[in-house]
Amino acid sequence: MAKIMFFIKMAILALVWCPTHLGGAPMLPVPWIFPSNVAAKAFPPLHICFVNMLTKVNIDGASCTKYACHEYRHVWQWNHYRDLYQWWSNHMRDGIFERYYFSKICAIEEDARIFGRTYGKKDGEALMQKYSAAIMEAAYQRGLL
Ligand SMILES: [Zn+2]
Repeated sequence: MAKIMFFIKMAILALVWCPTHLGGAPMLPVPWIFPSNVAAKAFPPLHICFVNMLTKVNIDGASCTKYACHEYRHVWQWNHYRDLYQWWSNHMRDGIFERYYFSKICAIEEDARIFGRTYGKKDGEALMQKYSAAIMEAAYQRGLL
């Protein structure tokens, strides 16, 4: 029963959230029903966000909203900073994304973290301009990462 209520809240969250904060971009939040350590994940090209109902991280209503905001922000990034989003996507398997995940250099994550914890009131767009795809690629080519 609690899970059904959670699902309904997620659906309401999506209906309320998408139009106001994301310019009406159609988006589908899908509660993740597989046991996993991953609490939430976005698949921007598909405009789908997952918040995991069976995660080992304890998710209450407030953090569910934060996770949803964080993941929706990645979809927004896909629409507005696609080159940067793709640059980091291209470096998910060579250790660079992992190395910088919690730093400001990984601007897509820092932006989404700020957006998530402030429920969309603040963002890190300036960081995405500072650590742009061109800057990141130049640093990568010079072996600075
Ligand atoms: Zn993220």
